[in-house]
Amino acid sequence: MTLRQADETTSHSTKLSKNDSQVAGYHDRRLIVGLTGGIGSGKSTVAALFAEHGAGIIDTDAIAHHLTQAGGEAIPSIRAAFGNDYLTSDGALDRARMRRLIFSDTAAKQRLEYILHPLIREQAKAQLRQLQASPYILVIVPLLPESPAFRQLVQRVLVVDCEENTQVARVIWRSRLTEEEVRAIITRQTPRAERLQLADDIIRNDSGLGSLAEQVAVLHERYLKV
Ligand code: ATP
Repeated sequence: MTLRQADETTSHSTKLSKNDSQVAGYHDRRLIVGLTGGIGSGKSTVAALFAEHGAGIIDTDAIAHHLTQAGGEAIPSIRAAFGNDYLTSDGALDRARMRRLIFSDTAAKQRLEYILHPLIREQAKAQLRQLQASPYILVIVPLLPESPAFRQLVQRVLVVDCEENTQVARVIWRSRLTEEEVRAIITRQTPRAERLQLADDIIRNDSGLGSLAEQVAVLHERYLKV
């Protein structure tokens, strides 16, 4: 499917005229695009290409990381909900331990998300206010398909999509996880077809960086006009 076809087939979901950031007490008339995709699909790479065009970038993973560092805003609630066992000796979230817990315990995963997600959204809104010079904003939200509250924050959804084998190869190369581990993570994420159904725009990332840059340039022009 070409970018144009993808846009035509999915443009039905371009329906939010008012987003959460407008509801939240200030009026930001700029386009806010939610950028999502499966693990290793290329979200950060795509965001970096948009940044070269002047787009404002908000990375919810980076916000989550910041909130869960030693002294981070989420630490007191995490301590209250999970105890000191899930903190490192310097008081940061013990990511490896928490990852193992929430992999097998859905209630614990929800408890963590209940703590983190509202804080992440608040931080994202604060960053929106700081990015006044950008013509439009991309918010990287890996969990966008699972989270209606995050979808409320954006007016348009951009999905970075690639074949599962491409994802696996890229993540193995980058992280040294085994193929089995990467496929297990992919299985737990929103299925590819379901994610694509949410898309207003799709970037295909199965070939080289040149193709990626071309697709970003086309969308950049479009986002300037929305
Ligand atoms: P995560 O879900 O883990 O946050 P991501 O979706 O942000 O990952 P990236 O980090 O952008 O994905 O890309 C994953 C890896 O694949 C990186 O090492 C990146 O450099 C590489 N990569 C992404 N797109 C391409 C491409 N078109 N050609 C070659 N390498 C690529």
